[in-house]
Amino acid sequence: MYHLILATRNAHKTREFMQMLGADFALADLRAHPEIGEVIEEGATFAENARLKAVAVSRRLPGLVLADDSGLEVDSLGGAPGVFSARYAGPEATDAANRRKLLEALRPIATPHRGARFRCALALARDGRVLAICEGSVVGQIVRQARGSAGFGYDALFQPNEFSETFAELPAATKNSISHRGRAVTKMKQFLRGANLLK
Ligand code: IMP
Repeated sequence: MYHLILATRNAHKTREFMQMLGADFALADLRAHPEIGEVIEEGATFAENARLKAVAVSRRLPGLVLADDSGLEVDSLGGAPGVFSARYAGPEATDAANRRKLLEALRPIATPHRGARFRCALALARDGRVLAICEGSVVGQIVRQARGSAGFGYDALFQPNEFSETFAELPAATKNSISHRGRAVTKMKQFLRGANLLK
C-alpha cells in the first residue's frame, strides 16, 4: 500500500484520483487537515500552480504529496479561462455560475469554432522538494447547452473529440480513461514505478 496526500479539498477530484490510482494507494486529502491554509495560486501556468501547492503542503506534512492544477482553455477566448477556470465568474464563483458565464461568452460562436481543451498538471513533492511534474490534456468542444449530471465543474459543457456525449454524460471510467487528469495520472504512476517509489 502506498500513501499519498492529495493537496486538494475538492471531493470530486479526490474521488477521481481514487478511481484512477486504484487499490494500491491510500489517499488522504486536505479535508483531513484544516490547519493547512489555502495556497495562493499565483502561477502563470498549471504546472507552476501545481508545484506551488505540492511544495507548500509537503513542507507541512510528511510523506508524498500530490497536487493537481487543472482547467479549461477555450480556443475562441484565446485560451481563457485557463488558470482562472475556478474563478471565471468571480472570486467565490460556483461551478454553475462559471458554466453560465462560459455559455454566454460563446453564444455568438458557431459550432466549428467552439474548440477547447482541458489541461491538468500534477506535481509530486516530499519535504518541500519537487520530485516530478506530469501533464495531460484532452481536446474537444464546448456544447451549446449543458448536458448530463455526472462529474463536476465544466464537465456538462465539454464534449471530447470522438464522442457524442459530454464528460457529464459519460461513465466515470470512460472519462477517467481519456481525461486530462487520467492522462497525467498514468504518467505519474510510470514515474513512481520507475523511481522505485511504487512497486
Ligand atoms: P483548480 O481546483 O484550481 O485546479 O481549478 C480547476 C477548475 O477547472 C475548476 O473550475 C474546475 O471545475 C475546472 N476543472 C478542472 N478539471 C475539471 C474536470 O475534470 N471537469 C470539469 N471541470 C474541471
